[in-house]
Amino acid sequence: MIMNSTIFEVLQTYNYEQLVFCQEKTLGLQAMIAIHDTTLGPAAGGVRMLPYASEQEAIDDVLRLARGMTYKGAAAGVNLGGGKCVVRADPEREKSEALFRALGRFIQRLGGLYIAGEDVGTNAHDMEMIGLETPHVVSLPVEEEVSHFTAFGIMQGIHACLQNVYGSAEMQGRTITVQGVGAVGSRVVRDLLEEGAVVTVTDTNQEKLERLVAAYPALTTCPPEEIHTRPVDIHCPCALGAVLNERTIPELHCKIVCGAANNQLADEYCGDRLAQTGILYAPDYLVNAGGMIAYADSRHPEGFVRQRALAQVTRIYDTLQRVFALAREEAIPTYRAADRLAEQRIASVRQAKTLATAP
Ligand code: NAD
Repeated sequence: MIMNSTIFEVLQTYNYEQLVFCQEKTLGLQAMIAIHDTTLGPAAGGVRMLPYASEQEAIDDVLRLARGMTYKGAAAGVNLGGGKCVVRADPEREKSEALFRALGRFIQRLGGLYIAGEDVGTNAHDMEMIGLETPHVVSLPVEEEVSHFTAFGIMQGIHACLQNVYGSAEMQGRTITVQGVGAVGSRVVRDLLEEGAVVTVTDTNQEKLERLVAAYPALTTCPPEEIHTRPVDIHCPCALGAVLNERTIPELHCKIVCGAANNQLADEYCGDRLAQTGILYAPDYLVNAGGMIAYADSRHPEGFVRQRALAQVTRIYDTLQRVFALAREEAIPTYRAADRLAEQRIASVRQAKTLATAP
């Protein structure tokens, strides 16, 4: 939240359309749905369930995440706007069919303005419960995993970065550090190794790390607190947000940062600092949009088609090249160039809609 601002001042500053509070006393349901911008289509965004320490923390999170989804959808070229839902509850202890169905009824009341999906603290089963009350929820066919599409998008991003920095997208022999080998990171690691990269990994979960190294003995490991300091071609953050901050940026020894983690830059100042160091940064929401693209495909009238979704994810390569070209032409950091491309798309669609409805 902007310091000392009221909720309405924040909504006005960033042009939010709506912030909906949902409560069901008997179930203890406290949820918020933020709808940032629906110019491109209904506001899509996951349902995040966390035991937020305060109401303010939950409001800040839902607003920040919904706005991020607007930019992600715009940059990914899908017809989806930005939204998000947060539920103030502990996913380990407080999940129930009744709670998700109650949330589903609130989503239904919005009449399709907001489309729910999985996020931190929720899963496909929870979406099924929501889906008992509303059709405005997306999920992929059971045999598909969203992280597969996200990882595929990260690979497109890495290729585009290599092309930009080295004049060739060839992966053979390139050195890479991968921070976090969860659903997305482990897939990226597998693809990188297949293409001949030299990969160093880390994870705070030692068991996960050991399993991966057992499957791929060519991997080397390093302690979590050192991963960003290694001298490599590419650093690939696939764990947490805010990993590019005032402490870590001076310690980076890579040419490229390209990874899946959301909100990698601690703030805009860090984005500017990173650009000043000469490290090429692939804006996170642009390269990690593969999952959103897959979800958008699942709304196709003929249903989800894997090849069509993957084909659209490959376009991340071209979009990133456009962002890099714009950043060079305008002498601006890449994160600003990505925002500009996303804002241009929204503005042109808004203008076309206004013209279409003009008398
Ligand atoms: P995940 O929870 O499966 O994996 C994250 C991994 O990071 C875990 O193995 C965890 O132990 C590890 N980790 C946590 N803190 C760490 C630290 N300090 N150092 C090293 N490792 C650490 O999550 P995921 O689905 O693989 O997503 C990874 C990131 O990508 C998240 O930031 C997520 O928001 C973002 N993202 C994911 C998707 C998707 O499709 N899953 C889509 C877009 C963005």
